[in-house]
Amino acid sequence: MALPPADDLPPLRAVVEAHGLAPRKALGQNFLFDLNLTAKIARSAGPLDGFTVFEIGPGPGGLTRALLAQGAERVIAVERDPRCLPILSEISARYPGRLEVVEGDALETDLAARARGTPAKIVANLPYNVGTQLLINWLTANPDAPFWTSMTLMFQKEVGQRIVAAPGSNHYGRLGVLAGWLTRSEILFDVPPQAFTPPPKVTSSVVQLTPLAERLACDLDRLERVTHAAFGQRRKMLRQSLKPLGGEALLDRVGIDPTRRAETLSVAEFCALAQAL
Ligand code: SAM
Repeated sequence: MALPPADDLPPLRAVVEAHGLAPRKALGQNFLFDLNLTAKIARSAGPLDGFTVFEIGPGPGGLTRALLAQGAERVIAVERDPRCLPILSEISARYPGRLEVVEGDALETDLAARARGTPAKIVANLPYNVGTQLLINWLTANPDAPFWTSMTLMFQKEVGQRIVAAPGSNHYGRLGVLAGWLTRSEILFDVPPQAFTPPPKVTSSVVQLTPLAERLACDLDRLERVTHAAFGQRRKMLRQSLKPLGGEALLDRVGIDPTRRAETLSVAEFCALAQAL
């Protein structure tokens, strides 16, 4: 027997049909209709009480409903597709004063300003076409004092693997170094394609990132220059790939063997190279 939804709103599939919301590929619209799954994602974000919760791409609102049902006092949901707004208004009416919908492009929305200094969490089933860029924007917005205390985000599994990758892994690259410098990250669970409407081609993963209390001193721009050069030619030895940045002389200053390759370097070694630039 199916469990009843956590609120008294109609089932999501019925809502989407009633509003004629046909999913659009260009907007990365793969909707979740299973309220048990959206509740699981919301729960995995931890306590929501007292936090501003940002959701990017609420769509028909399955995860939004779960976040509100689980006690989020203030959800700010940024949605680019105006067709979703009437559905989200119905959810807002069910939870008066707790859901603010921002119509617009999340890539151009300043979440930090909207948090207004309150502790914030970001929880989202991200549109895959802009998911990585959104993550990079939030990671680099203000590395010294991030506006978010955690991010619980659905990505394509392969992106999730790149975020949490450790040195030596095929998935380790620029994204893993950036995330590893600033956060502790883990894949919480995978979600199969059949859980979405329409199903995407690949498995998805829910990834959680929390800022490190203490991180290595490092300049972001220089770190990006080093990782860009090193992973741009990941099969080459570092003395070759880092030539434009000083090659062997730079590696000698930090005491790194110039015959090593990018994917063997720890985050600390990348930070040391960035500082030595
Ligand atoms: N949260 C819903 C769910 O889990 O069923 C929908 C998730 S769907 C993967 C991604 C959502 O992001 C869609 O509603 C889409 O319209 C929205 N979207 C796509 N690009 C966006 C952007 N640049 N800014 C804000 N929302 C966007």
